[in-house]
Amino acid sequence: METVTTIDEIRAALERDRAAGRSVGFVPTMGYLHAGHLSLVEASVAGNDVTVVSIFVNPLQFAEGEDLDAYPRDLAADSAECRAAGVDYVFAPSVEEMYPTPVDTTVTVASVAAPLEGAHRPTHFAGVATVVAKLFSIVGPCRAYFGAKDWQQVAVVTTMAADLSMPVEVVACPIVREPDGLAMSSRNVYLTPEERAQAPVLRRALDTGLEVLRAGERDPVVVEAAMREVLAAAPLAAPDYVAAVPADTLVADGPLHGDVRVLVAARFGRARLIDNDGLRLG
Ligand code: AMP
Repeated sequence: METVTTIDEIRAALERDRAAGRSVGFVPTMGYLHAGHLSLVEASVAGNDVTVVSIFVNPLQFAEGEDLDAYPRDLAADSAECRAAGVDYVFAPSVEEMYPTPVDTTVTVASVAAPLEGAHRPTHFAGVATVVAKLFSIVGPCRAYFGAKDWQQVAVVTTMAADLSMPVEVVACPIVREPDGLAMSSRNVYLTPEERAQAPVLRRALDTGLEVLRAGERDPVVVEAAMREVLAAAPLAAPDYVAAVPADTLVADGPLHGDVRVLVAARFGRARLIDNDGLRLG
């Protein structure tokens, strides 16, 4: 495994691989890797000749007052995990390497970036789309692996890649959870023991949403109310949003039908956690 910090070097290495007929799998991350990230790595290693993992805490996707400075980092541990998982390249650029001059060009995705996360973090998805566009440009033609944990992010990146004819196949991978149902996240380290004990309420709220839908409820307002009631039982959870929406548009437009997604975002002290699940209504 090679660790590469410059754009020129990783671009040249991957161009050599493709020229030799090797397919490239790409896993973009912000590091502090856990089993969720490693499931993406595993899918990439299984499906491609060469795997590159990027580790870059992207300042553009953090708003003023968010946790950019506190975001956990451990490149040595991440590299060891990547090596053990069969990764070929870790691309770990500095902020100066990625953004040597003030960013003047950004990518925005209109419709699917607007609700939910977009409504609560108005600059977030432009930051994500811009860094992912840049990384896709650096890595070149590849399969790129993203986690369904960030469901709306997958929708934003898929839309961007299609709209801009990027030579990238976006692959969405299932959410990896702790045994008690909490979705794995680098931000879980922020949780105090008391908050950690209550955090699985997110999974329970999603389960309740799915149960209510399976029982025949189709009104998103009623489904969301049932989910909110579950969250209300956890005093340390401050919900940002609770949603039951069409899985593609993420905006309810009347009774639910077809592929439905239930999503939650809540703050537990310093940690803002998100989770989602889905089902297909017959
Ligand atoms: P991050 O480092 O948080 O930017 O995440 C990098 C990638 O890992 C994103 O595509 C995430 O959706 C994915 N990911 C994060 N947590 C999980 C998880 N628990 N299960 C599956 N994928 C995840």
